[in-house]
Amino acid sequence: MAFETKEQVLEKILELEKPVCPNCSKEMDLWEVPPVSFGDGLGWGTPYLYVCFNDECPMYVSGWDNLMENYAHRASYRCIKNPFDNNFEAMPVFSPMGGQGQIVNEQVMAEKEVLKEAIKKGFSILADAYTSKDDLTVVRMLLDPHEPVRVRVKAAEMVGDLAGPDALDLINNFKFGNDVLQAKASEAISKIHARNFTRECPFCAEIIKKRAKICKHCNRDVAGQ
Ligand SMILES: [Zn+2]
Ligand SMILES: [Zn+2]
Repeated sequence: MAFETKEQVLEKILELEKPVCPNCSKEMDLWEVPPVSFGDGLGWGTPYLYVCFNDECPMYVSGWDNLMENYAHRASYRCIKNPFDNNFEAMPVFSPMGGQGQIVNEQVMAEKEVLKEAIKKGFSILADAYTSKDDLTVVRMLLDPHEPVRVRVKAAEMVGDLAGPDALDLINNFKFGNDVLQAKASEAISKIHARNFTRECPFCAEIIKKRAKICKHCNRDVAGQ
């Protein structure tokens, strides 16, 4: 068998139909096998198994009594199945929660995939905008709450390099609601001021020349402020 990454195996499994537990007829959960396998020490031969985590499953319910009577163990079985064959087997568990930590939530996986795509797309738009010095697009990405935070952080860095004083008000008046982004936006504002030899009037917050002595907006003395 050719070497496959865990992701490739998972992709293949997700294309197959979800099995139903033969003991209780409930849909089984996809479960990531822990790195150290318990029991016979042979390993499972697959990074993922289907497990019936139904607490009312007859196999699981009767397992507690069975193992207690025969082996004096507080344990039971859950029904498992290798995704790539048709045999159902039993896996020992030592608590109702046993093994549940590794259930692969397909919703989470799908969301991860969507996020990865959005980040890829965002970075590609930013790269194009940066090359063509399209500061409007870069500012728009920074302020767009639908863009992933990683994309907006990158946009903030580019805004500092590209944007003119026009962008200052937009960014200043924006509530980012995220400390990392807010800090990155402040950095961008400092960079825009430095590149344009401007600063904020300490009295009226309008943009003035760095070396201005009198604010042209509020007429106050800003020399040395
Ligand atoms: Zn079952
Ligand atoms: Zn002023």
